[in-house]
Amino acid sequence: MNHAQDLRALYRQTVLDHSRHPRNFLRLEPADRVVVGHNPLCGDKLTLYLRLDNDRIENLTFEGTGCAISMASASIMTESIKHHDLNDAQCEIDRIMRQFESPHTGEETDDETVEGDMAALSSVRAFPSRIKCATLAWKTLEAALQENPQAATTEE
Ligand code: ZN
Repeated sequence: MNHAQDLRALYRQTVLDHSRHPRNFLRLEPADRVVVGHNPLCGDKLTLYLRLDNDRIENLTFEGTGCAISMASASIMTESIKHHDLNDAQCEIDRIMRQFESPHTGEETDDETVEGDMAALSSVRAFPSRIKCATLAWKTLEAALQENPQAATTEE
């Protein structure tokens, strides 16, 4: 196997692991924010639970059903965002949305390079219909950061 194949195998393993054993997959009670997110194109549905400590996300969990990509993305998101300040969380959301929604050219600028476990999902950028599976959790988190959160959907 060459390096690219190694990397693809590793990414597949990461996605499978997160989708089969999602982290922070539980209902959080009590929660300060509870927001539902829906991707009608694929049927992914998730509920995010946030507990806040002033401007800090003290805990972040989710429940839901959907494809492996949506579940893996939500699992990775809860792990990476937990304990962040609200501002940092918003920056991270902006960064992920920019990376996933920028056209996949094959020659990426630094700004488009997906890092961390989310990199395992970067291949979905070649499949526009699956991008929303990867960004649903992040879009739902963005809704949850608003003062009076509304349900999030990938289709306006
Ligand atoms: Zn999906």
